[in-house]
Amino acid sequence: TDIKELLLSRIRDVADYPEPGVMFKDITPLLADPAAFTALTDALAEIADRTGATKVVGLEARGFILGAPVAVRAGLGFIPVRKAGKLPGATLAQAYDLEYGSAEIEVHAEDLTAGDRVLIVDDVLATGGTAEASAQLIRRAGAEVAGLAVLMELGFLNGRTRLEPALNGAPLEAL
Ligand code: 5GP
Repeated sequence: TDIKELLLSRIRDVADYPEPGVMFKDITPLLADPAAFTALTDALAEIADRTGATKVVGLEARGFILGAPVAVRAGLGFIPVRKAGKLPGATLAQAYDLEYGSAEIEVHAEDLTAGDRVLIVDDVLATGGTAEASAQLIRRAGAEVAGLAVLMELGFLNGRTRLEPALNGAPLEAL
């Protein structure tokens, strides 16, 4: 479709970043292009509408850049899921495994409650570890995952399969 080609044309492949053998998808050209950034925001906000989301969660850091305008456009509140140690209030934390070692993310406990339907927004779905941990956090907070919406899914890493249990039937939409 037209939007898919517009978005793809504004994503830059960077070889051997952040380490040898990795082809990094750089979204900064897309963010710098108002037509592409607006089209992306509108498409993600449409997913928020369609899934009946009541809140938007953005994953640090590029999920903040995309998720915040989506929340505003959809008329919903924005909730940041942050790397451990960054949020000042009482948090729920979720650890997850990386290729080497582990990581931990947090959300303010009072930001999500029973009855919330949460759309998770991020730029790139790779192995799915970050999104999986986020979905687990949301469900532990008593809220429901309305869906996961990303700009781009790296299909060869099979994140979609890994995420299936955590999404519990909620849609994964990659533009
Ligand atoms: P995962 O947990 O799915 O392996 O990794 C996803 C997280 O890493 C996302 O938050 C995403 O921003 C970041 N990420 C992984 N690979 C890329 C990439 O090639 N480009 C960008 N922009 N982000 C990436």
